Amino acid sequence: MRPIDLSGKTALVTGVANQRSLSWAIAEALSDAGARLILTYQGDRLEKNVVDLAASRPGTLTYSCDVTKDVEIYALFQRLGAATGGTLDVMIHSIAFARREDLGGDFRKTSREGWHLALDISAFSLVALTNGAAPLLSAAGGGSIVSLTFQASQRVFPNYNVMGSAKAALENATRQLAYELGPMNVRVNAVSAGPVPTLSARGIHGFTHMTKHHEKMSPLRRNVEPREVADAALFLCSPLASGITGTTLYVDTGYHIMGV
Ligand code: NAP
Repeated sequence: MRPIDLSGKTALVTGVANQRSLSWAIAEALSDAGARLILTYQGDRLEKNVVDLAASRPGTLTYSCDVTKDVEIYALFQRLGAATGGTLDVMIHSIAFARREDLGGDFRKTSREGWHLALDISAFSLVALTNGAAPLLSAAGGGSIVSLTFQASQRVFPNYNVMGSAKAALENATRQLAYELGPMNVRVNAVSAGPVPTLSARGIHGFTHMTKHHEKMSPLRRNVEPREVADAALFLCSPLASGITGTTLYVDTGYHIMGV
C-alpha cells in the first residue's frame, strides 16, 4: 500500500519546463501516489519537452498556458473541466519569471516594467489560476493548492532582487486565498524550497555561490533534493495535511533558521 494514496484524484501541475523543473519532481511524486496528471507549459518552445515527459506517465494531459494572458487561463480551465467532468483535486503553482537584468545589480534600479512583469508572472498568476480552479476544486468537495516560494520573501539574498518582492507577494496571496477558499474545504499552502539548480535558478547571478553557502551553513550540511521538495508538496496535497492551510513550509535542509 502507498503511504499516500491519491488514486482517483486529478492534479494540475503548472510550470513544467524540463525534467529538472521542481514541478516535474512534484508531478512524479503525485503520479507515484496514484494521481492523474494535467501538465501545463508556456508556449510551443517547451511543448516537446513536456509531451515527452508526459508520455512516461500514461493518461497525462498537457495544455499550453501563458499566465500573462487571461484568455489562456480561461481556456485552460474550460478544457480541463471538460476533460475531468468539472472537478479538480490538486493544483501546483510552480511559475516564476524576472528579466535577467532584474536578477542582479542594484535592486533600486529595477524598472517599473520589470517589476510589473515579475510580480505578474510570479505572484498574480497564483491569484488568477486559483480563480479559475476554485469552482472545479469546490465541485470535487475540496482540494489543495501548493505554490513554490523562496526565503528571499523574508530576507535579503543578494541578486534575488525583484524576485524577493514577488515571493513576498506570493506568500501573502497564499494566506489570503487560504482564508477565502477555506469554507470550500480548499487548502492553500506554499513550499519554500532551498536552492535547486533548475533553468530559472541558473538565471540568478551568484546562484552557485548560494548553493555552496547553503551546503556549508544549513543544519543538514547539504542542499535539498528536488524529490524532498516534491514529497513535501505531496504531503500538503494529501489527507495527512487536512488541518494545514495558509502556511509556508520550509524544505531547505533547515537553512532558514540560521542567522548567517
Ligand atoms: P523552472 O523549471 O524554470 O520552472 C519555472 C517555470 O515557470 C518554467 O516552466 C517557466 O516556463 C514558467 N513560466 C515562466 N513564465 C511563464 C508564463 N508567462 N506562463 C507560464 N509559465 C511561465 O524553474 P524552477 O526552479 O523549477 O521553478 C519553479 C518554482 O520554484 C518557481 O516559482 C521558483 O521561484 C520556485 N523555487 C525555485 C527554487 C530553485 O532554487 N530552483 C527555490 C525556491 C523556489 P519558461 O521556461 O517558458 O519560462
